[in-house]
Amino acid sequence: MKQQLNSLRASTIGLLSQIADIKTLNDARSRILGRKGDLTGILRGLKDLPIEERSTFGQLANQIKAELEVEFDLRETRLREDLEHSQVMSESFDVTLPGRRLPLGRSHILNRVTHELLDVFSGLGFQLAEGPEVEIDYYNFEALNMPKNHPARDMQDTFYFSDNLLLRTHTSPVQIRTMETHRPPVRIVCPGKVYRRDADVTHSPMFMQIEGLWVDKDVSFADLKGILYAFTREYFGEKLGLRFRPSFFPFTEPSAEVDIQCVICGGSGCRTCSSTGWLEILGAGMIDPTLYGFVNYDPEIQSGFAFGMGIERVAMLKYGIPDIRLFYENDIRFLNQF
Ligand SMILES: [Zn+2]
Repeated sequence: MKQQLNSLRASTIGLLSQIADIKTLNDARSRILGRKGDLTGILRGLKDLPIEERSTFGQLANQIKAELEVEFDLRETRLREDLEHSQVMSESFDVTLPGRRLPLGRSHILNRVTHELLDVFSGLGFQLAEGPEVEIDYYNFEALNMPKNHPARDMQDTFYFSDNLLLRTHTSPVQIRTMETHRPPVRIVCPGKVYRRDADVTHSPMFMQIEGLWVDKDVSFADLKGILYAFTREYFGEKLGLRFRPSFFPFTEPSAEVDIQCVICGGSGCRTCSSTGWLEILGAGMIDPTLYGFVNYDPEIQSGFAFGMGIERVAMLKYGIPDIRLFYENDIRFLNQF
């Protein structure tokens, strides 16, 4: 009887692998496992066995029956899946349905703000100038009045490829490069990525700057103020005032930090401006005459100013963004808002 059971098991498994449709499968199931099926037929022999062997073979028969049930179920699932798949392929494929639309990308918020700023400054007569992000020491520091070992370099620690080759810490090298190759008047604006060894809520190791430079005859601090007023009114709104605080930059003299009246509260005081009514927005100043020596301009004839601001800072103020790191996390939920 054991042999009979095992051979029924083997032949059934062999048969299952050849069955290709549900009806044949159901027929085979009732023929083998049904009430009048082959298995029942074998079990009928149990009563001829000695009593002590009946339970052993009864157990084996139940075990094989359970195993075969599982095999039938598996085969059935497989056949139904195949059937469904072939139905999808043959019947429900409608060539007239519109295609699935791919999500459309858009400009990153920082690129948008950059273009908005360029728009404003080109309206004020500034031309676009660009330069390399990997800079040599001379353009990034030396020609901007920061000789080797000058303490002002401490504020702009950066990433070095060699003693002489580094990631630029500001867009100011573009000013030197432009003045080297162009005679005055020069009126340029240079946006781009810059790098510093900094990272917290308001600082990122990579960020973007935009700088303006205007060198000509008789350019004065009044012209600088005029340009900055024109810019902030155009970009942030008519009524916001500016405040100039004395400051220091190695490449301008005199230098100023410029504050704008808070874009959120208009100057009455709120959380964004720490109740002061003012927000720091840019640095500016008259070009230090020493710089003209590096680019063969005559400091007795030429004068000019430069200003620079962080594009992230401008975007945070304009669009009320609280954390600089949001710009670089590539979170679609954040980027989609702009
Ligand atoms: Zn405020």
